[in-house]
Amino acid sequence: MSFSPSNAARAARDDTPAEARSMSEIASAIEIGEPGSFAALGTAFLTRLPAAPVPDPYLIGLSREMAESLGFDPDVAVGQEKNEFAGYFVGNPTRDWPSDALPYAAVYSGHQFGVWAGQLGDGRALTLGEVEHDGARLEVQLKGAGRTPYSRMGDGRAVLRSSIREFLCSEAMHHLGIPTTRALTVIGSDLPVRRETIETAAIVTRVAPSFVRFGHFEHFYSNDRVDDLKKLADHVIDRFYPHCRDAEDPYLALLDEAVRSTADLMAQWQGVGFCHGVMNTDNMSIIGLTIDYGPFGFIDAFNAHHICNHSDTQGRYSYSRQPQVAYWNLFCLAQALVPLFGQELPEEGRGERVVQEAQKLLEHYRERFAPALVAKMRAKLGLEVEREGDDKLANGLFEIMHANRTDFTLTFRNLSKLSKSDASQDAPVRDLFLDRAAFDAWTAQYRERLTHEPRDDAARAAAMNRVNPKYVLRNHLAENAIRRASEKDFAEVARLLDVLRRPYDEQPAYEAYAGLPPDWASALEVSCSS
Ligand code: AMP
Ligand code: MG
Repeated sequence: MSFSPSNAARAARDDTPAEARSMSEIASAIEIGEPGSFAALGTAFLTRLPAAPVPDPYLIGLSREMAESLGFDPDVAVGQEKNEFAGYFVGNPTRDWPSDALPYAAVYSGHQFGVWAGQLGDGRALTLGEVEHDGARLEVQLKGAGRTPYSRMGDGRAVLRSSIREFLCSEAMHHLGIPTTRALTVIGSDLPVRRETIETAAIVTRVAPSFVRFGHFEHFYSNDRVDDLKKLADHVIDRFYPHCRDAEDPYLALLDEAVRSTADLMAQWQGVGFCHGVMNTDNMSIIGLTIDYGPFGFIDAFNAHHICNHSDTQGRYSYSRQPQVAYWNLFCLAQALVPLFGQELPEEGRGERVVQEAQKLLEHYRERFAPALVAKMRAKLGLEVEREGDDKLANGLFEIMHANRTDFTLTFRNLSKLSKSDASQDAPVRDLFLDRAAFDAWTAQYRERLTHEPRDDAARAAAMNRVNPKYVLRNHLAENAIRRASEKDFAEVARLLDVLRRPYDEQPAYEAYAGLPPDWASALEVSCSS
């Protein structure tokens, strides 16, 4: 083992495993069925099966940080064993694959576009197992690794474009500081995949502490399997919210955690102009992660009712509706948990009491979301002290951004360049607005508000630049990387990942990645087809 400060630190604590530096070490670090893992819940929750092999897999993108967080030496992916690495992370069989520890697909159900959809499940995802490293336990999952018993009419595959988008956005969101599933790799194959046209396959290795969705709970509730429902809830509590055991009702406390983390997540999404696109209950994480990147989008020209998913004809999941949809989804979760609530209460009148309790608890969503959003907006406006009317000030800005269709990311980023006292320096943000008079009127209020702030311009700008990203995964940036990758040039995927690793930093070499989208970008459409 070569010397490095991190190895030295690890050697000092012999409870931490050393870095896995070969494919066999990586494979053996991925355990399946350890006590406390999702896999240990048993066959009612999942089906074990091998992945369907793909021919000649090749690495398209690698998150070195993610590899390091798993304790994997990232150089294995690009070194002598690169073919073994690519083969392993598409699920191709290797000699190291233990036959009694096949990967698994989990079963869940859910509401899709507001309608009960019945049983769904991992139709194209297979979990390889779990890695314990540096005190964290992370599940490692392949998305697009072939058909499963839950594939319904699907082919179990994901195409190159959607896999690159999921890979890049998972890492981009993480670096923005927004809770999300992560991505280790995106690996392609020339295997043809039929969508509207013939495309090629790619597999993303996703990583998260848990992939449990609201829909998992709905599944066991709808099938009247209260014992399994309880097992699942106990798993989530034991793993993520052990303090819920101290509450009067641990399962209400679990719901409260979901309410809290979902409200926080919604405030975070709103704060960067992120739209998920398919906020079905099967795409909602019980631990408040952004999960299942499909037709997502960051808003360029601001429209409060922006719909990022071309298949969402009604705009159910538009930007302005997302927080309300999250509440609706939490309502479905609460409903599914009802059989677990108030187990200590006498049977007589229990149903009514627990439903009342759950309804009261759901109100925490509004109580949590509204202040979280105001706090986010205050930070985005560079306001350190809290004053009444701050929410109105922020709304005023959103109104003129909407009316002028100004670029979401650039408006907030450039706002930090405004001087407290000197309106002659407004150009970087003023020029984004067609209606200059409206901008000047809002800015006058903003400047007045800034007189109550203790920080000077430089300190305020520095703080604003830590919350208003300069670089987000705009559709056209992803599209450029996808177009190049489909010609087997993966340099742009790597470059874009590199830019998005430091979204709040000025990166002069990458100024073009922070600019307005080109004209052709407005014609880009993303849909459920992935
Ligand atoms: P999504 O809208 O991508 O979250 O997918 C909803 C459900 O459809 C999930 O159960 C997926 O696993 C499943 N699914 C989506 N695409 C495919 C596919 N190509 N093959 C099999 N199952 C799929
Ligand atoms: Mg999904």
